[in-house]
Amino acid sequence: MEDLKELKKVEQYADQCMKCGFCSFFCPVYQEERVETSVARGKNYLAKLAIKGEQKFTDELGEIIGKCLLCKRCVVNCPAKTQIDRVVVAARAQMVKNKGLGFIKNFAFRKVMANRKAFGNYVRLAKAFQWLLPKTEGKIRHLPDFLKALGQGRNIPEIAKTFLRDMVKPVYKPQDGKAPKMRVGFFMGCATDFVYPELGLKFIDFMTKRGIEVVVPQEQSCCGAAIYFSGDFETGRMLAEKNIEAFKDVDIIVTACGTCSSTLKDYQKYLPDNPDQEKRYKEFEKKIKDSMEFIIDVMKVNPEELKLKKEFEGKTATWHDPCHLVRYQNIQAQPRAILKGLKGLKYVEMPNADLCCGMGGSFSVYHYDLTKKIAAKKMNGIKATGADIVVTACPGCMINLIDNVLQNKMPQKVYHLLELVE
Ligand code: SF4
Ligand code: SF4
Repeated sequence: MEDLKELKKVEQYADQCMKCGFCSFFCPVYQEERVETSVARGKNYLAKLAIKGEQKFTDELGEIIGKCLLCKRCVVNCPAKTQIDRVVVAARAQMVKNKGLGFIKNFAFRKVMANRKAFGNYVRLAKAFQWLLPKTEGKIRHLPDFLKALGQGRNIPEIAKTFLRDMVKPVYKPQDGKAPKMRVGFFMGCATDFVYPELGLKFIDFMTKRGIEVVVPQEQSCCGAAIYFSGDFETGRMLAEKNIEAFKDVDIIVTACGTCSSTLKDYQKYLPDNPDQEKRYKEFEKKIKDSMEFIIDVMKVNPEELKLKKEFEGKTATWHDPCHLVRYQNIQAQPRAILKGLKGLKYVEMPNADLCCGMGGSFSVYHYDLTKKIAAKKMNGIKATGADIVVTACPGCMINLIDNVLQNKMPQKVYHLLELVE
């Protein structure tokens, strides 16, 4: 009898599905492929068969449960509120337990990403060779034909000259020299650390200008999104422990990455293996604040008092909802309030702003053609607005949006919301 521990933990969620098929109208993958195994209902059915011992953990099953963006459009629109994200992630974890991770993921997750120093060294090594990739424009390069396994023609941002962790101080005091209004820990996240360090510095500056003390623990690690959403719970739990320990001296942890904030909050949902872990992950969740909710709900910033950077005056902006903000954390009003409040900026809502951009973490590595088809709908929404700039708050979405804007030869530029304000 195969081990079914991880899947058994989510049996109650798999049982919620009443097979109505409503999810098929909302699933971006099903909308492209039109096969039952793409949609929540089909994945859920196979998970239930596996729980009963009637479905083996075959490569084909691995392929099916891997083909999900974890965008949660099915979850929020499901009349029975079936939590397919939990079922899919548990099925991936079960697959890893029963069949192993495979050489590439084992190396990438356990030897590279789990060790922040080693991760930085490998990224530095990649940086030394990035000049070999042809330039698209500015700091964007594209993958040539011989790397088509990673996505033919894909545009990728340059790795930063200096990583954020090599620039930051352990503590930043409020700039007015007064006693801090509050003290927060800053979680960098891999994309901000290695690709967009200026974004991290910007957020620290934003907070310290407004009387907040910011601490940046060097011991912090990757949030674990790509790792535990791929089913490697063992490494996911190890990273959770590292991050909990690194931030044990602060009560609030902020990050400018929507995927990181969601992933850190959700250790308690996907990862616990015993009551003690569950208790500690739940306590950790209470500390996490995404930049958007922190600015509006905790700092109580009045958006109308924020100053728009000169270069954006007179521009029209539209907002892209990252899945990890809008559906995982219900954060949608806060960024819109900021954009609408910024004097000198015109805001226009895009059709289907909450549609997934198609990135889905490692989904875009394995299914780049599907990513492009899903992103094409997002691009249509952007085109319909006539906006000059697309604004979001997740570096992962930014990377995918930039790629697809360029692939579609569109004029828009993509920014993190924090880049717009003084
Ligand atoms: S997952 Fe929800 S929407 Fe989809 S078939 Fe099941 S009950 Fe219906
Ligand atoms: S999470 Fe998204 S991609 Fe996965 S089944 Fe649901 S709607 Fe489809």
